[in-house]
Amino acid sequence: MCEKDLASTFYNKHTLRISRLNKLMNIHAYSISKVNGPGNRFVLWTQGCSKGCSECFNPLTWSFKENILLTPEQIFELIKNSDIDGVTITGGDPLEQEDILSLLMLISTLDLRKGVILFTGYSIDEINKDFLLRKSLSYIDVLIDGRYEKDKKISSGLRGSENQNILYFSDKIKPDEIMIDQEIEVGMRDDKIYVTGFPNISRKILRELGVIIK
Ligand code: SF4
Repeated sequence: MCEKDLASTFYNKHTLRISRLNKLMNIHAYSISKVNGPGNRFVLWTQGCSKGCSECFNPLTWSFKENILLTPEQIFELIKNSDIDGVTITGGDPLEQEDILSLLMLISTLDLRKGVILFTGYSIDEINKDFLLRKSLSYIDVLIDGRYEKDKKISSGLRGSENQNILYFSDKIKPDEIMIDQEIEVGMRDDKIYVTGFPNISRKILRELGVIIK
């Protein structure tokens, strides 16, 4: 199987189960945050990732079991009605959601000052070999690509490991805005403490302490 077919099969295999749900997107969580990119941001964590990176920062997002099911239009309404400068979409792997393109196209109509940042476990080479994945690049401002490689872990900026690339598709976000300190936000929901952001402390230890990491 050529790499193009492989990428498409990879994509289709793990999105078919979502398409059976009438193009609902499977969402892990969403929140407003100041530590997931520049400005006040709407952060969307998608549910489902097939990559299986060792020591993944958020294995709770791996399962494709239905969690919060929303259409792209419903998510867009939430975003549109929020006081934000930009949107960050992460996971899980957002590019394993069948209707991510519809959502990105809707968000682009808002022309947000601090744009759209998207994290994916696919490498840019894999994305460029698949028509639908490549098309999504037209509607984002910054892409952070690639699997998390624990032996290349880094402790500054939004990347998790050195192999990942930060790719800019507009000038809405400057490189120094991505190289932010690894800050965190701590909150409480349903009697559970959760942390979002890029903590410069062991996520494994946080999990052992019962802290939910988004
Ligand atoms: S691609 Fe991201 S969410 Fe998926 S396993 Fe790797 S680090 Fe975890």
